[in-house]
Amino acid sequence: MNPFVPLLAGLLVSLGAAYFRSGLRAWSVATAAAIVGGGWFAGSSILAIALPLLVFALVAVPLNLVEFRRRKLSAPLLAMFQKVTPQLSDTEQIALDAGTVGFEGELFSGKPDWSKLLRLPKPELSVEERAFLDGPVEELCAMVNDWQISHELADLPPEIWEFLKKNQFFGMIIPKEYGGLGFSALAHSMVLQKVAGMSTTLCSTIAVPNSLGPGELLVHYGTKEQKDHYLPRLADGREIPCFALTGPYAGSDATSIPDYGIVCKGEWNGANVLGVRLTFDKRYITLAPVATIVGLAFRMHDPEHLLGDEEDLGITLALLPRDTAGLEIGRRHLPLNNPFQNGPVRGRDVFVPLSQLIGGPDMAGHGWRMLVECLSVGRAISLPSNTSGGARFAVAATGAYARIRKQFGLSIGRFEGVEEALARIGGYTYQISALSLETAAAVDRGEKPAVPSAIAKYHATERAREVAKDAMDVHGGKGVILGPGNWIGRGWQGAPIAITVEGANIMTRSLMIFGQGAIRCHPFVLKEMESLKLTDYREKLKAFDAALFGHIGFAISNAVRSFVLGLTFAKIGRVPGNAYTKRYYRKLNRYAAVLALMADTSMLVLGGKLKFKEKISARLGDVLSNLYIASAMLKRYEDQGCPVNDQPLLAWAFHDSVFRMQDAVDGVLRNFPVRPVAWLLRALVFPFGRREVPPSDRLGRRVAAILTAPGEARDRLLGRVYLTPSANNPVGRMNAMLPEVIAAEPIERKFLKAAKAGELKGYDYDAQLADAVAKGVIDSAERDLLARVRKATFEFISVDDFDPSELVAAVRHEGKRALRSAA
Ligand SMILES: Cc1cc2nc3c(=O)[nH]c(=O)nc-3n(C[C@H](O)[C@H](O)[C@H](O)COP(=O)(O)OP(=O)(O)OC[C@H]3O[C@@H](n4cnc5c(N)ncnc54)[C@H](O)[C@@H]3O)c2cc1C
Repeated sequence: MNPFVPLLAGLLVSLGAAYFRSGLRAWSVATAAAIVGGGWFAGSSILAIALPLLVFALVAVPLNLVEFRRRKLSAPLLAMFQKVTPQLSDTEQIALDAGTVGFEGELFSGKPDWSKLLRLPKPELSVEERAFLDGPVEELCAMVNDWQISHELADLPPEIWEFLKKNQFFGMIIPKEYGGLGFSALAHSMVLQKVAGMSTTLCSTIAVPNSLGPGELLVHYGTKEQKDHYLPRLADGREIPCFALTGPYAGSDATSIPDYGIVCKGEWNGANVLGVRLTFDKRYITLAPVATIVGLAFRMHDPEHLLGDEEDLGITLALLPRDTAGLEIGRRHLPLNNPFQNGPVRGRDVFVPLSQLIGGPDMAGHGWRMLVECLSVGRAISLPSNTSGGARFAVAATGAYARIRKQFGLSIGRFEGVEEALARIGGYTYQISALSLETAAAVDRGEKPAVPSAIAKYHATERAREVAKDAMDVHGGKGVILGPGNWIGRGWQGAPIAITVEGANIMTRSLMIFGQGAIRCHPFVLKEMESLKLTDYREKLKAFDAALFGHIGFAISNAVRSFVLGLTFAKIGRVPGNAYTKRYYRKLNRYAAVLALMADTSMLVLGGKLKFKEKISARLGDVLSNLYIASAMLKRYEDQGCPVNDQPLLAWAFHDSVFRMQDAVDGVLRNFPVRPVAWLLRALVFPFGRREVPPSDRLGRRVAAILTAPGEARDRLLGRVYLTPSANNPVGRMNAMLPEVIAAEPIERKFLKAAKAGELKGYDYDAQLADAVAKGVIDSAERDLLARVRKATFEFISVDDFDPSELVAAVRHEGKRALRSAA
């Protein structure tokens, strides 16, 4: 009889217990039973059973004796942990405290509970929100002439400013009780998405007052007087807000602002009151040139102790009315030819009373916390929505253009090279729109999605930049020549703006996504760190021991799960979904386990240094991000009733995400500083090497086909993009023309075949068309269709030209002045 059977049985049961995450006690009992039972069943000798049982007992028994374990194992480890755990700075602690953990926590758990995701309510708009989108937003889109905005006026025309104020576009997040629209995050996002395609300048103008700034800060922290006074005025546009944090010396490192305010007495509305004398130099401030109220971040000092003992009170936020003496504002920056109002704000010894501090004197020094708490919500909406709208518009424009534009006798969308670009546009837009929807939904569920909003900010803007680039390439010269007839160039020009604002992307990827995710979402790290803060030693040891042994079990389980799911090509495990999507959930299970394993190993081996190993941290963040994106796509797919027509989009986008995860994991392993650890990890996570492949060409062809012809899947991908074929919307008209363009294709083929064969008389299109009818190649109805399509096509492929003087800036300046005075 085989003497190794008891050992093997014990090992297998241990692996099973780790895979299924059984508790310590269950593992101990099951493994002991397996050793004895396996040996008995195989007829092993007493010694062959007793030896492994004894070894196992030596490990398992002390672990199960909780008091013994705490004293002998956890206590020395606690002492060590206390020494090596890096102290979180106040800023980091505030950032960690500011958010909540939603489904992303499951992804970090290494074994996501998918039912939690699928049980989340399907995001829906209210009747009132739908009416707003179909009414004022539709009307606004019909008014937009982006060339006029971006080239002629370098501003929105007065009638659009008025329309925005009158219809409370600046008050979407202000509650109804203060006269705002009180919209859900979803509605807010849909408004931005619809407008984004028509004008990025307009979209930014609407986004800013509804994002991090005076409105949101007052809603959360304002005093009653501040709310009563400002919120109704912000809601109806009597006040235009801006928020000034960034300055020449403090960009990404925003907490280092050198701007300061000294507590002192001063004059305000004729009275001598206590306040702050502010000195500041801010730049890049959106809406500043037209703002009537400036939200300002500065560091507050109280050297004369007029408020209390503390001298350096910390970052504080104040509201400065535009007419505040000494406030310099009005000059403009020009952000990449997307001329939304943006400029510097400066002041020296500008006095405001304490009543102008947001939240009043009680909130002095709490500015950073206030900003960080609001940031995750704003960041979950503005840029993901802006870029989702832009990408959806690019789908509508590029898909239709690739069908309408013909070269070598074929729609350019039929060429494999163009197909490849179209597939990326479709796949990335599918990802971006799901990501944007999920983060908006998280806000509506009451979450403060700090990690998802960083994921959405980074990945939506990065992928949108790719979409813009591909859209430009497919448009060829049509995209390059600017003018009223160019619908894609300004979006492409503006892509880096989205990359830079609200936390520049390199930093967001390298520091924030994994850095915050690892601590915030990890099921045990935060508990371990928090246990260290307890003052009662017994309580501390108890909490630390529970977190530590939970963590050890978790790490073992992730190692086993990574290996088993790698060995089985992630084809096992109970998951939700249908025959089509089950494999996707399983694949995500595998990478969730891999992420958890790699995250733990990185934290254990690199400790505090991981913070500075940005390239490792960024790649681990990429794994988390793509897990989140793929989950968001699956959730939306389920919410939409699993539409079969969308499968190519889902499949392309999913394979792309998984391929990116594999790349990121491989990147960590290749660059992990402790090589033996990397070798071991590689054996666990890639037992058969790198097996994921990018989306296939065939899949790409199916995605391109969706983009270039009207259909349900295309409509769903476009969402509520503005496609009304109005005079100002050539993309809407081009899309409306698509059915006719497609109907004309077989007729055109007949016609071109005859022309190529030299059967038709005449040198130009019209003459040959007439001859084709005369010779019976096509009938007169077919001729009319071809003529109509050709005429319309000419408009869409045309580009603008200008009198040289029209392009001279000084002349434009005069023209603008004339336009202004006429208005
Ligand atoms: C058009 C526009 C509108 C804006 N609107 C506003 C506004 O309304 N209010 C406001 O207060 N601010 C605003 N900003 C400022 C914006 O938030 C900052 O530009 C942004 O925070 C980055 O700062 P910076 O441009 O100085 O870049 P820098 O801080 O100089 O960074 C340069 C590069 O270094 C990277 N980097 C920096 N530190 C790290 C790090 N530790 N690890 C990895 N990479 C790092 C960054 O990611 C970036 O790629 C706006 C900016 C622009 C361009």
